[in-house]
This record gives sequence, structure tokens and C-alpha cells, in this order.
Amino acid sequence: MSSFLLEIVTPERKVYAEDVNMVIVKGSEGEMGILPNHIPMVTPLKIAPVTIKLKNAEEKIAVNGGFLEIRKDKVVILAESAERQADIDLARAEAAKQRAEQLMSGRKDDYDQVRAELALQRALNRIAVKQG
Ligand code: ATP
Repeated sequence: MSSFLLEIVTPERKVYAEDVNMVIVKGSEGEMGILPNHIPMVTPLKIAPVTIKLKNAEEKIAVNGGFLEIRKDKVVILAESAERQADIDLARAEAAKQRAEQLMSGRKDDYDQVRAELALQRALNRIAVKQG
């Protein structure tokens, strides 16, 4: 089965760099599966799990927004933050979820509302990936 190099990088670190068979992302226009030899393109990503398919395995990574870039030689996900399942601290994500929900239920301006909604999406994304 043919493969391609997938890199997931954040401003802080390289989260992932492996040869994979397929990657499934949530772009601005919905779910998208990328196979080897896809045409080059760039698209924004939602806060959502990215599914990586390897020969005999599957891995999910919490990707918290960013961009997907399909190049001739590799596929790069440049994310604001991203965590592999094993690196996710569930208690921290649960606490972040509670904080975001509290902020959303209180009095707030539009800026706080958007910030809380994004924090909630990140927390839910991490919880979903951690819980498989
Ligand atoms: P928190 O409020 O818990 O900091 P956050 O969504 O505001 O969560 P980010 O700003 O997205 O956090 O990320 C800051 C850094 O902390 C990144 O390096 C990110 O990978 C890491 N991080 C955030 N939450 C978790 C978590 N639950 N488990 C592991 N790493 C996390």
C-alpha cells in the first residue's frame, strides 16, 4: 500500500512525522480523506480529531484549528495546538471544559463568548480523542 509523509507541527513543537496511508481531517467544507498523490492545496481546519490510517493501525490526534497543506512531497498540518492521545491530560481538559461552560453561562461580551466557545471546542476535542 502506498504511503506519504504526514507532519503535524505547532508553533511549539513537531507533534507527528510518520509515513501514513491515509489521513482524514475536518476542513471548512466538511470531512476530507487524503490519499497518496493528492493534488497540492491548502485549506483551513476545524477544531476536531484528525484520523491517521497506517497499515495495521489507526491513530487519532486532537488538532485544535490551523491549516492543512498538501505538497508534492508531503502533507503538513500546521496547528495552533495538537496532542497525541497519550499526551492528553484528561483532568486538565475536563477542567477547561467546566471553565468554558461557566464563562458561557455568565454575563459576557461577544469577545468572551467566542473565546469561551473555542476553549470549549478544544476541551471537547481533547476529551473525544482521549476517550477514543
Ligand atoms: P488550558 O485552559 O487547559 O490551558 P487551552 O485550550 O487554553 O487549555 P491551548 O492554549 O490550546 O490550551 O494549549 C496550550 C498548550 O497546552 C499546548 O502546548 C497544548 O498542547 C497543551 N495542552 C492544553 N490542554 C492540554 C491537555 N488537556 N492535555 C495535554 N496538553 C494540553
